[in-house]
Amino acid sequence: MASPTPAEPGRPFVEGPLCIDLLNTTWRSNGETVDFLATREGVSEFSTANNHPLSPAASRHAQHNLINAREVIRQLFMGGDPTEELDDVLDEARVTRSHDGTGITITGNSPENALSIEAVVNAIEEFQTRKTRIRSCAHDDCVLWFLDTSKGGRRRWCSMERCGNRAKARRHYQRTATTN
Ligand SMILES: [Zn+2]
Repeated sequence: MASPTPAEPGRPFVEGPLCIDLLNTTWRSNGETVDFLATREGVSEFSTANNHPLSPAASRHAQHNLINAREVIRQLFMGGDPTEELDDVLDEARVTRSHDGTGITITGNSPENALSIEAVVNAIEEFQTRKTRIRSCAHDDCVLWFLDTSKGGRRRWCSMERCGNRAKARRHYQRTATTN
């Protein structure tokens, strides 16, 4: 059986924590939105890359859970209040106390939800510690997210190569087009 291929070979690389990595499984390519999680192959690749390899049987539910978690994280970062949806995702989470009793970890309870729960917990942590540093790219035709770890905190682009330079080129073109 032929498998559908994504419009771009591989995901655009943007460094960052798991929650950002999950958000960046959709991106724009030649005016179209690409969803890396639309195929089981994509889900499997994303899961393996994040240390949760899936069996083929688990990948369908994992796909649903990851897409759900991605939407919840997006709403949270865009200033929405996805409390109920967060509740739903975390419903199947398992809380474990560390051996010395000083810390707790929140994990999934099955391969199907392990990564989506980990991503949502990571998003909550990032949101609570550095909300203003979580941003979406300033380019009009880009839906990628990043965590601004720069000293000044003024980063605007997912990456200079991908969006910073094309925005600069466009401004340059507009300037020269109006003065000529
Ligand atoms: Zn961008």
